[in-house]
Amino acid sequence: MGILIRQCIQSISFGFSVLNKITSLFKEREKVNWEEERLKMVDNQIVKRGIKDERVLDAMRKIPRHLFVPIDQRNNAYEDCPLSIGEGQTISQPYMVACMTEALRLQGNEKVLELGTGSGYQTAILAELAESVYTIERIIVLSERARRALKDLNYQNIHFKVGDGTYGWPEEKPFDRIIVTAGAPDISQVLIDQLKENGILVVPVGSRYSQTLYRVIKRKDKVEKENITLCVFVPLIGDHGWKE
Ligand code: SAM
Repeated sequence: MGILIRQCIQSISFGFSVLNKITSLFKEREKVNWEEERLKMVDNQIVKRGIKDERVLDAMRKIPRHLFVPIDQRNNAYEDCPLSIGEGQTISQPYMVACMTEALRLQGNEKVLELGTGSGYQTAILAELAESVYTIERIIVLSERARRALKDLNYQNIHFKVGDGTYGWPEEKPFDRIIVTAGAPDISQVLIDQLKENGILVVPVGSRYSQTLYRVIKRKDKVEKENITLCVFVPLIGDHGWKE
C-alpha cells in the first residue's frame, strides 16, 4: 500500500514537472516570437518610413506593445494599424506613436505632460525617453488598466490622473513637452500657458474625423507652428476640446 502511494506521488510530481517544462517552453517561444514581431515592426513600418531618432527606435524595439492591447487583439499588436482598446478608444498605429515621439525631440531630462493615456503604450515610450511623465485619461477603466500594465513593467517615473486633460495639469506646470494623443479642435492656449519657454507641444488638430499633426514651439514672444503629417485620431473630449 505504502509503495503504491509513493509511486502515485512520484508519477503525479513527474506529471507536474513535465507540465511545467511544456508551459515554460511555450512561454519562451512566445517571448521570442513577440520580440521578432517587434523588431520587424520597427524595421518595416518605422525605419522604412523615415523615423531616425535612435532612442525612439530603441524604445519601440524594447517595449512589449502586446501587453497594452486586450488579449483578443494580441496577435495583431504589431500590425501596421490602430487597434480597439475598448470604451470606443484606440491604441494608435505604431508609426504614429513613433512620429509623435520623434517630433517631441526628447533628450532624457524632460518633464512631459500626456493627454490621453489610453492603453498606456505611448506613456511607456515617454517614460523610457524622458525624466518624468504626467498622464491624464478621462475614462477611469482605461486609466486603471494602463496603470496596471505600466506597474507590471516597473515604471517609476509616471504620474496618473483621471479627468478632463484639456485643462492640462496646472499644479505641475511648467512642462518641457506636452503631447496630445486625441484630435483637438484647435491649439489650446491653456496648454501653451503650461509649457516652458522653448518647450514643444505635439498635437493633432482639425475636424472630429481627420487632423493635421503639428509641432508647436513656444518661443519668448511668439509660437512657431510646423505641420508634420495628416492623421486620424479619436476626438479630444472636454471643456477645451470637443463636446461629448
Ligand atoms: N496614446 C494612447 C495609447 O498609446 O494607447 C492612445 C490614446 S487614444 C488614441 C486617445 C485617448 O484620449 C483615449 O483614451 C481617450 O479616452 C482620451 N481622451 C479623450 N479626451 C480626453 C480628455 N479631455 N482628457 C484626457 N483623455 C482624453
